[in-house]
Amino acid sequence: GCSAALPLPVLGRDVTVPLVTGGEVAYAALDYAASAPALQRVWDDVAAYAPYYGSVHRGAGYLSQLSTDLFENSRRTVAEFLGCRPGDQVVFTRSTTDSLNLLAHALPAGCEVFVFETEHHASLLPWRGARVTYLDAPRTPGRAVETLERALADRDPHGPALVCVTGASNVTGELWPVRELAAAAHAHGARIVLDAAQLAPHHPVDVAELDVDWVAFSGHKLYAPFGAGVLAGRTDWLRDAEPYLAGGGASRTVARRADGGVDVDWHTTAARHEAGSPNVIGAYAVASACEALTAAGFDALVARERELIARVREGLAEVPEVRVLSLFGDDAPRVGVLSFVVEGWNSSHFAAALSAEYGIGVRDGLFCAHPLVRTLLGGSPQEPGECGAPEAGPGEGSLNAIRVSFGAGTPDEHVDRFVRAVR
Ligand code: PMP
Repeated sequence: GCSAALPLPVLGRDVTVPLVTGGEVAYAALDYAASAPALQRVWDDVAAYAPYYGSVHRGAGYLSQLSTDLFENSRRTVAEFLGCRPGDQVVFTRSTTDSLNLLAHALPAGCEVFVFETEHHASLLPWRGARVTYLDAPRTPGRAVETLERALADRDPHGPALVCVTGASNVTGELWPVRELAAAAHAHGARIVLDAAQLAPHHPVDVAELDVDWVAFSGHKLYAPFGAGVLAGRTDWLRDAEPYLAGGGASRTVARRADGGVDVDWHTTAARHEAGSPNVIGAYAVASACEALTAAGFDALVARERELIARVREGLAEVPEVRVLSLFGDDAPRVGVLSFVVEGWNSSHFAAALSAEYGIGVRDGLFCAHPLVRTLLGGSPQEPGECGAPEAGPGEGSLNAIRVSFGAGTPDEHVDRFVRAVR
């Protein structure tokens, strides 16, 4: 397949798994949207650095200084990858979820939050304590912009507000009109954060060009291992907020006061929110993945994913019982993520069969986007209590879907096996 031409080999291509029908088969990982396999290059970079790693920001020793340089250089690499503006800040977190919770923690007093009900729970739920307006699912990208504009028009333009929006849906893979939503947010005096968990691995992200205030993503979906994520963007709200984690590294000086308490002078840089010993390996791995993707070029990756999506869609179109889920319509541009239901089948049973009988790893469920999946399934015959295999009872277990997703390293054979298995 064409994937051989992509200079982005991933790990795990040689893993074989047992089948219930007997024998073994090479595992077809078609669940990149949950976690992408790490790039060989990332693993090699981490392995090459491993003998040298030391504590960041804490040692006078050579290796500590080397690690500190590597950690700080990783910030610069990530900032470049994201097209950050001069003065923007890259905070290393654990994940997209962590990044958005950090921003939620840093909201100014009285901040209003606007979020579409179609978001992943990581974007939907962190805003506890703020006044949140949940926006109805739009059925076209244009409607998304209109819906946001209408909601923002009603607010006090002098108070702080934040819009949180996904770049690419983790359920449908559809691209959202981020630039237009950012323009609408700014026209009404609001800030905007882009959840790029699904966008960044598949599509270039340019913070300055999109004119978003912050962007969040996870290393483990961007071909790096688990444990490191990023929140990048404006410094002001973050600099003015209490530290997300209080402890060593976040504080410049700490001194006892005469009255017995302590005075703390917190850092105003990214370190303010990164207390504790930093995950230098994780940050380096993310930076390595960013460099690898930049070197390979997104053009090749995007073209390859389009090819694979077309192959899946053509294959599934021949199975009348399959319904592909879409908010913006069948022709809407999407990244390599696609969800569907199969009439007469319980999605969990179907996904289990793909694994047990064909060695194909997909995901089933509501994909941490319950309101969206409910909306998408709303008009289908798969209403709660009606869908699925005969033994499937009513409720959550039967109101779900199957998601197939792929990226760099997906060979034609995996997609073809998947289509054959569905047929
Ligand atoms: N946002 C989107 C769109 C996602 O797909 C995910 C992961 N499924 C997240 C946020 C959360 O990412 P993480 O689990 O790495 O925090």
